[in-house]
Amino acid sequence: MEQQAQAASPMVTAYRDLKARHPDFLVFYRVGEFYEILETDATRVSQMLGLQLTRRRRKDAPDIPMCGVPSGRAEEATERLLRAGYHVALSEQPEEPGGDRPLRLLTPGTSVQDAVLDARAPNGLVALYALGAVVGLAAIDLSTGETMSCAVAPQQLSAALARTTPREIVVAQWQEGGEEMAKAVRASGVPVQRRENSEENLPDLLQEAYPDPALLRGLSEAERAALGSLLSYTKTMVGRLPTAMLSPRHLMMGDVMEIDAPTLQGLEILTDATGRRDGALLHVLDRSVTAAGTRLLVRQLAAPLANPEQIRRRLSLVRHFVENPRQRGDCREALGAMPDVLRAAGRLSVGKATPLDLGAIRDALGQAWTLAEILSPVSAVVPGLKPIVRDLEQMRQGDALALRETLRRALIAQPERDIADFVKPGFDRELDAARAARDEVAEALTQLQAQLAEQTGVRSLKIRRNALIGFHIEVSTAHASGLTSPFVLRQGLASSARFTHPALDDLAAKTETASTRIQAIEEALFKNFVQQALVLRDGLARMAHAAAALDLVAGLAQAAAEGGWVEPTLDHAPHLDIEQGRHPLAENLLEAEGRTFEANDCVMSADRRLWMLTGPNMAGKSTFLRQVAVIVIMAQIGSFVPARQARIGIVDRLFSRIGAGDRLVAGQSTFMVEMLETAAILTRATHQSLVILDEVGRGTSTHDGLAIAQAVMEYLHDTIQARALFATHFHELAVTATPMPHAVCMRMDDAEGRHGELFTYKVLPGIAAQSFGLKIAALAGIPTSVIERARYLLQAR
Ligand code: ADP
Ligand code: MG
Repeated sequence: MEQQAQAASPMVTAYRDLKARHPDFLVFYRVGEFYEILETDATRVSQMLGLQLTRRRRKDAPDIPMCGVPSGRAEEATERLLRAGYHVALSEQPEEPGGDRPLRLLTPGTSVQDAVLDARAPNGLVALYALGAVVGLAAIDLSTGETMSCAVAPQQLSAALARTTPREIVVAQWQEGGEEMAKAVRASGVPVQRRENSEENLPDLLQEAYPDPALLRGLSEAERAALGSLLSYTKTMVGRLPTAMLSPRHLMMGDVMEIDAPTLQGLEILTDATGRRDGALLHVLDRSVTAAGTRLLVRQLAAPLANPEQIRRRLSLVRHFVENPRQRGDCREALGAMPDVLRAAGRLSVGKATPLDLGAIRDALGQAWTLAEILSPVSAVVPGLKPIVRDLEQMRQGDALALRETLRRALIAQPERDIADFVKPGFDRELDAARAARDEVAEALTQLQAQLAEQTGVRSLKIRRNALIGFHIEVSTAHASGLTSPFVLRQGLASSARFTHPALDDLAAKTETASTRIQAIEEALFKNFVQQALVLRDGLARMAHAAAALDLVAGLAQAAAEGGWVEPTLDHAPHLDIEQGRHPLAENLLEAEGRTFEANDCVMSADRRLWMLTGPNMAGKSTFLRQVAVIVIMAQIGSFVPARQARIGIVDRLFSRIGAGDRLVAGQSTFMVEMLETAAILTRATHQSLVILDEVGRGTSTHDGLAIAQAVMEYLHDTIQARALFATHFHELAVTATPMPHAVCMRMDDAEGRHGELFTYKVLPGIAAQSFGLKIAALAGIPTSVIERARYLLQAR
């Protein structure tokens, strides 16, 4: 023990101490201009960031691996580590010697540095709290300060999580229903923090964050508990609570289409199978010109609307902008110049704002003004525009107007993060006076230098300043002996000598006074502006939401115009009537190759609600199934759709499963995964739901798989009575559908395309012939004699 304690320096001891308290974090320990990282963390960080790994040598003890990150590069370094899924603890230098070392804990969900955030993705931190039979869910986007909450049954959790697009989940309480909850959390694939916050007083935290109890009206116990845990976690991580919070938005599960995580992934809604965005539906639909517009679209796609009134209202806005391309262009241009004011306001709330954010608010207020001017004349005729225009108009009155005027007069054109020099000359008389004093002293210093050079005859004499000795006079060593009293030698170097002088000391003190004064005034002004902006936070947030909503509909209109899409009609009837539908992404891909996409109808009704689609491999089954689901999603977010005509009976829950054969899942047996997911559908689907099963049941021996697939199909058809689309290349399975009264057998055409394509990609009535495997084999170049033999064997069976 004795020896070990001796071997470890105080820093190493302190480092180990921190690491013991925060074992899940990579610890960065600030020493002067560097953050030092030791031991296993050093090995990891040096690998991750490609830094030199060095060793700290010790007497009588093994060397300690270490690496260093210059403080100027720390933000970039932590950003890369957070992106890679690590958490970072920054131990800063104490404000005064011997004081406490401030600690900053950074995790993906709690980081509010813009650089870390993907500005186009909502940056959700979610807390869950199980209370009896319900799970309270609270979500915050710390970068914008927006919160949401809901209380759901454990079985709904997966869909609720998918809607909040979390980057990090905090689980405060596991109870009954913990199984389901754990499953949903695991399925989301998001990093999880477990926390016991029994010792913390959640009601006090809630009261602190929401001083006005009206803000929390209508929240259930479970939601309050989740919100409390969320705040407690935020406080630990960020060091303080966000202030001036808006009421949490209530996530109403009934008003939206539920889409669970496997469906979102399988249909490639937000990201494609490889995790990238450009192969996803989001990419085809997203013509937003602001990051907030894209964030809103992401949220919509994760949870489309299910209320026909709301959908029609959004469609009417999209229609307006489809029909008025000039106005659409004007709005998009104004929006494009609008900074991300929600993120700026979010930083205001957590006390991390900089002059850059004030500049963003000023510019956003200006753009809101322009937008209000463009839209005011039409808001009377387009009802959906009214609330948007109202929230924009509000920024032309009262405190908002005053703030805009102040910021316009006060801020320089391009404020930076640094507070120094963010105020324009002429705005504040005292500041101008202090700056003039600073300039005067600077001038006096120049004169003094000339004067001393003249007096001493040393023409190369220079007045300089450094961190160690402050202002001093520097001459080369050769001239040093010529400088006598009142010059006082402070430092002799190899090639130069440094002196002080009473006249210089006097000016140095004046410089100091002037800069302290300037700094104080600038800081006071900054605080004052931040205060004024904070008062307007709600209005700014509403304005930002209005702008995002506008960007969403104008963007959807733009996509509709580019794609030649049509406006769908929506009702509650259990049908789907899509005439000449296309898959927008597949269509784009084919067009890029100079080919055309074959459009197909999909007419489902109460008596034709289960479609059994057969066809050879590569004939277009999967594409057709996805296209139907994608068109329904597009319609329910209020977008136009790629079809000649579409009537959509609102879908309350959408399920899509792609057979294990088409996918790779790590860890679990693929068949088990398939069955778990199928079980989820059979327990969750209602007669208003749409279920898409693509080659499900392939993960096991053909016999089992077919039997299970048939039983699932019968249950969907007889008991749940949902609309369902099955695709299979098993002829036998399709045959079992024929006696079902509300089932329809359809097939992909197995004829060759007219221009030498493999198939025509047409959906036709009936069941596909059995011998299509032979056709593919022949196309692939298998010798004719082998094909003939196979044909013989097939017939003999
Ligand atoms: P399956 O599921 O029957 O094996 P896919 O839906 O995966 O077939 O389609 C295979 C390929 O056929 C696609 O990658 C696409 O290139 C082409 N394809 C599918 N549907 C169409 C269509 N409607 N029009 C044109 N090409 C299509
Ligand atoms: Mg397929």
